[in-house]
Amino acid sequence: APPGRAAQAKPVIVLDPGHGGVDPGAIGASGTHEKEITLAMSREIRRQLEQTGRYRVHLTRDDDTFVRLRDRIAIARTRDADLFMSIHADSMGNGNSSTRGASIYTLSENASDAEAAGLAARENRADIIAGVDLTRENKDVTSILIDLAQRETMNHSIVFARKLVQEMGREVQLLPSNPHRFAGFAVLRAPDVPSVLIELGYLSNRDDEQLLNRPHHRTKVASGIVRAVDAYFAANPVRRD
Ligand code: ZN
Repeated sequence: APPGRAAQAKPVIVLDPGHGGVDPGAIGASGTHEKEITLAMSREIRRQLEQTGRYRVHLTRDDDTFVRLRDRIAIARTRDADLFMSIHADSMGNGNSSTRGASIYTLSENASDAEAAGLAARENRADIIAGVDLTRENKDVTSILIDLAQRETMNHSIVFARKLVQEMGREVQLLPSNPHRFAGFAVLRAPDVPSVLIELGYLSNRDDEQLLNRPHHRTKVASGIVRAVDAYFAANPVRRD
């Protein structure tokens, strides 16, 4: 191989199907459990990413088990992930069933709006459900995050989120305003792994719920995600010693 080629490695991508086990996540208008949608979607994304032959892909869970948020981050770091995608589907609890569309989140201590802050609070509840308290840990991780050295990771996360907005937007409906949002999701706090959280849509909306249950829809979403991943790594190739 020409010099330099040997150092190029397949990027490692960790997919994180939200919720699982005792934590069903959001429950849809017709009874769909978020934890099932997130796993089915993650498996389809993995299938399509592996099909390209360009990536190594791992899931934080591949069955209906509970995984703590901190363990999801730990899996990404143990696998030496170059990219981490947490997969979720939202639900409006207040009977607002008209809101629909996908959105992409990156980490920020300052949520982009009250809605984003509320969503992060709901998703962060996962560990409380299983009796794990993240509050103390958050403080330590937050102090790491404010380090200037972590900004590069956050910038990469933002670059990737923008590519997701572009490519997923060609396939499926996104939230009409600000599909890229910022909020304090605990699962996005790995200081050295670019991370995004994808909300696939709203299970509280019957159209979104129906779509998310369809394999064809999952195929479309995943194809948009794969194009975004391709574009991201074309601009940010991975090198390993
Ligand atoms: Zn969720």
